[in-house]
Amino acid sequence: MRVLVVEDETSLAEVVRRGLTREGFVVDVMHDGQDGLWAATESAYDVIVLDIMLPGLDGYQVIARLREAGVWTPVLMLTAVDGEHDQAEAFNLGADDYLTKPFSFVVLVARLRALIRRGAPERPVVLTNGSLSLDPVRRRVLRHGSEIALTPKEFALLTFLMMHAGEVVTKATILDAVWDPAYDGDVNIVEVYVGYLRRKIDTPFAEASIETVRGVGYRLLEAGPAGPAGPAGPAEPAEPAEPA
Ligand code: CA
Repeated sequence: MRVLVVEDETSLAEVVRRGLTREGFVVDVMHDGQDGLWAATESAYDVIVLDIMLPGLDGYQVIARLREAGVWTPVLMLTAVDGEHDQAEAFNLGADDYLTKPFSFVVLVARLRALIRRGAPERPVVLTNGSLSLDPVRRRVLRHGSEIALTPKEFALLTFLMMHAGEVVTKATILDAVWDPAYDGDVNIVEVYVGYLRRKIDTPFAEASIETVRGVGYRLLEAGPAGPAGPAGPAEPAEPAEPA
């Protein structure tokens, strides 16, 4: 069983490495977020132990990029008891389990074995809303079967809106969920990106799926599974775009 440990405190990393090796794991250790991300995408691990506060990229950024890259290795996050990040946040961001420092080594091993038994988490399903579909793993967005190229930020924004289809979401909520936590610029950046998104997913298709709720925020209107193009099957678009 291969374990990747991403931890910048070298003494702690070394204790974990030695202990896990004794337990029969094959252990690689990386000391910053960049190297951790690189290792996790380049090699296959059964489980990853990921510290949150890391130089380079922090644990949240590492896990987000891993998932974006379609790497679904289970991740156990290490959180500091007095840290500003809580465990709920760790789960929201795609961790499969967490341990608060200082932790018992025996507990760590038990949790890692449980994660390995459970295997990679289930991939998120393709989100659909009317004729619009979004595949978070392949990072594809289709409208009536045509692929739409989105920038990573537009993609993240659309994912968030689709996950909250039918709900009114405020600009501040969107900003928190989609932008870097360190972003402290103008909340109106959200408006700008909603505009970009509309020009790609709505305007060319004569749709108006993102509603502006004045003074509040936005709502992606909920649409049934079957639009005029028929059931959203992955196999073929209902209307061939050109004669064969
Ligand atoms: Ca750390």
